[in-house]
Amino acid sequence: MTDDETQGTLDCDVAVVGGGPAGSAAAITLARAGRDVVLVDKATFPRDKCCGDGLTTGALRHLEALGLRPDAVASWQTVTRTIIRSPSGRTVELPLPAGPGAGTFAVVARRAELDAALLERARAEGVKVHDGHALTGATVPAGERCVHLAVDGLGTVRARYVVAADGMWSPLRKALLGGAGETEGYLGEWHAFRQYLHHGGPEAQRGLWVWFEEDLLPGYLWSFPLPDGRLNVGYGVQRGSKHWPEPLGKRMAKLWPELLARPHIRAVLGPDAEPEAPHKAWPIPARIERTILGAAGGRALFVGDAARATDPMTGEGIGQALESGVLAADAIVAAGSLRPWLAQRRYEAAVNRTLALDNRVAGLLSTHGVAHRKGIRIAVALADTNDWTRRTFGRWLFEDEPRAGLLTPARWHRRFLRRPGAYA
Ligand SMILES: Cc1cc2nc3c(=O)[nH]c(=O)nc-3n(C[C@H](O)[C@H](O)[C@H](O)COP(=O)(O)OP(=O)(O)OC[C@H]3O[C@@H](n4cnc5c(N)ncnc54)[C@H](O)[C@@H]3O)c2cc1C
Repeated sequence: MTDDETQGTLDCDVAVVGGGPAGSAAAITLARAGRDVVLVDKATFPRDKCCGDGLTTGALRHLEALGLRPDAVASWQTVTRTIIRSPSGRTVELPLPAGPGAGTFAVVARRAELDAALLERARAEGVKVHDGHALTGATVPAGERCVHLAVDGLGTVRARYVVAADGMWSPLRKALLGGAGETEGYLGEWHAFRQYLHHGGPEAQRGLWVWFEEDLLPGYLWSFPLPDGRLNVGYGVQRGSKHWPEPLGKRMAKLWPELLARPHIRAVLGPDAEPEAPHKAWPIPARIERTILGAAGGRALFVGDAARATDPMTGEGIGQALESGVLAADAIVAAGSLRPWLAQRRYEAAVNRTLALDNRVAGLLSTHGVAHRKGIRIAVALADTNDWTRRTFGRWLFEDEPRAGLLTPARWHRRFLRRPGAYA
């Protein structure tokens, strides 16, 4: 393939649109398999992404396999406990394994730094990264075996395949699927709010705090510790609930100062904790099991938030973004450049065996469990039964094993919920 930027055309095997976790994971996997990969992102990195910055064990295992080194991310903060408070005020502390050889089970890392470091990894693997260049359109000309992408400042990128890792609003999904991509009026399953605070107190530094406030259900508030007394604090609620009518964003913004001032929350954050930047809000898409995963006869595959891959119970999506990126890349490599329909079929099958099943289970647990006061009370009481339940529940909650792991024998192994964490 040729690379002729001067004439405004760039050819490659695979184009990846979006340089978040999903795009970088796909690009790294493809480059390692010898594919010529061009990645474009409209943002110039490092760029912020509105997020809780929490990395689950599942996400960490993927990051390790992709070659990301913790010391490449300045704000990398390992955490070894989660503290959950039910609406009635009962708290349970869930310890994660710690100590020599235990490995890492939970980390908080600023997305601005994490995503830039992962993109740097992609560059090091040979991916041609063009950040600061937005996709503006996409076509599949009749009779041609490639997708043509219109990219600001680059011209046309021609690729055998394109991986759409362009986030919740996926412009590529809109360009290729239009209404068929269910983009009209879709606002995601969750809406979430985040603010960075500084001068957080010692309680807040102790672990990942999660509050199930009665008036936030179905939803929760979090405070995740970062180095130097900084905190990532935010809350998310499920869209469409009768407790949370639209306009959701405005309602959430109005409630925010009052939430931060609640005595039991302020007691954890500390008296001196104060915002260091304005708050941000963003939707969370969580319905991969009901989402179109490919377009253009299989030449375009959707991953991460563009595939609505987030966990419907917690709103966590970094691990799912990484996993879907790897699965799509594997499918492209296995199908080869001439059988795009096979790539799509393989990708769909892989997602159905893993992420879609996990999300179905998480969706059920969410609807019948943590969306209600009673469900949370039962979950907290069960988790708090003894040391074993506290340890095991903590690991399961933090996706040490897939949500539907127990239901999928293909993913069983002898050290289920007992193996070391990542970076052991
Ligand atoms: C408030 C909040 C808190 C959250 N907390 C957590 C958490 O603690 N842990 C967790 O695991 N998940 C969390 N999530 C979910 C998580 O942030 C997402 O699931 C994850 O970022 C998805 O990654 P991605 O690579 O698919 O998309 P993104 O990270 O959104 O990346 C998409 C990329 O596409 C680029 N792009 C968009 N349009 C174009 C275009 N036209 N041309 C080129 N590039 C384009 C963007 O610039 C962006 O870089 C949270 C989400 C929210 C909103």
